[in-house]
Amino acid sequence: MKIASLYRPKDVEDALKVSRESTDTVVFGGGAWLKLSPRLVKRAVLLDDMDLATIETSDDAIRVGAMCTLRMVETHDAIAAIGSGIIVQALRQVMGVGLRNIATVGGSVMGKYGFSDVLPPLLALDAKLMFADAGEVSLASFMASKKRMNDIMLYVTIPRTKSVGFFKKVSTTPLDFSLLNITVCKTRDRVRVVLGSRPGGAMHQDVTSRLDLNTIPDEKTLDDVVREVLDAIPLGQNVRASKLYREQLAKTYVRRGVKEVMSREG
Ligand SMILES: Cc1cc2nc3c(=O)[nH]c(=O)nc-3n(C[C@H](O)[C@H](O)[C@H](O)COP(=O)(O)OP(=O)(O)OC[C@H]3O[C@@H](n4cnc5c(N)ncnc54)[C@H](O)[C@@H]3O)c2cc1C
Repeated sequence: MKIASLYRPKDVEDALKVSRESTDTVVFGGGAWLKLSPRLVKRAVLLDDMDLATIETSDDAIRVGAMCTLRMVETHDAIAAIGSGIIVQALRQVMGVGLRNIATVGGSVMGKYGFSDVLPPLLALDAKLMFADAGEVSLASFMASKKRMNDIMLYVTIPRTKSVGFFKKVSTTPLDFSLLNITVCKTRDRVRVVLGSRPGGAMHQDVTSRLDLNTIPDEKTLDDVVREVLDAIPLGQNVRASKLYREQLAKTYVRRGVKEVMSREG
């Protein structure tokens, strides 16, 4: 990538205005992914001076600024305590620490990468996004929308609801993209399954109605849950894996994940 000029907005209004001026203007997170592109960028908008690299905790939620690196998130104690640590487990499997010290939460969300290991646990925990213009948007509706958001992401809010989670990344080697990742999360009133790297963007299915939340499900119930997930979330093929292989992985790990979260106290 060649960058002709850099711009560091001081506030949200300025960042939004400048980023919408031309299609040659690009907002940067850590730039780890953008820099792989051979394109010419006339103006790179750097969000470093906007105080977006902070993690704030309250009783109900954790607010993670868009410029926080994946490493900051992965090493945060309060985040590690949510959902049996599914966010931390997922982030630890994104390349090495070097990359995770550069890649940001904002870039990982806004890229909406089909292969993402970052988005599935956030989706399982029902995280919300805050945008400079659009305001608060649920991650679920952001993921479901095909529209490109021409906005600045400010932070993600992760609820601190009591929850139990399961995360599994299946990849050829630890440094590869996921062939499929499977996240299951149980809260007081919901059990949600998320499949990522399908190979498209992560999708979720709430399977609460199939389960008695106080009982470990029997084999027949687990069969029904797996069937519901596979009916609701389409899997496909790409160079990394066939549709059939992804289906076999989903059958095994959705079953295992649901059984595991249903066997544990939140
Ligand atoms: C070699 C390599 C291997 C990787 N392997 C994995 C992997 O195995 N699993 C995985 O989950 N991820 C993987 N990733 C992706 C990585 O985790 C990040 O998601 C990715 O680098 C994007 O983060 P970034 O900070 O670099 O974003 P950038 O490259 O800076 O930006 C990405 C996109 O987001 C936009 N953007 C950034 N911040 C904002 C904001 N605040 N508001 C609006 N738009 C914004 C940019 O304009 C751009 O379109 C890999 C990345 C690389 C480079």
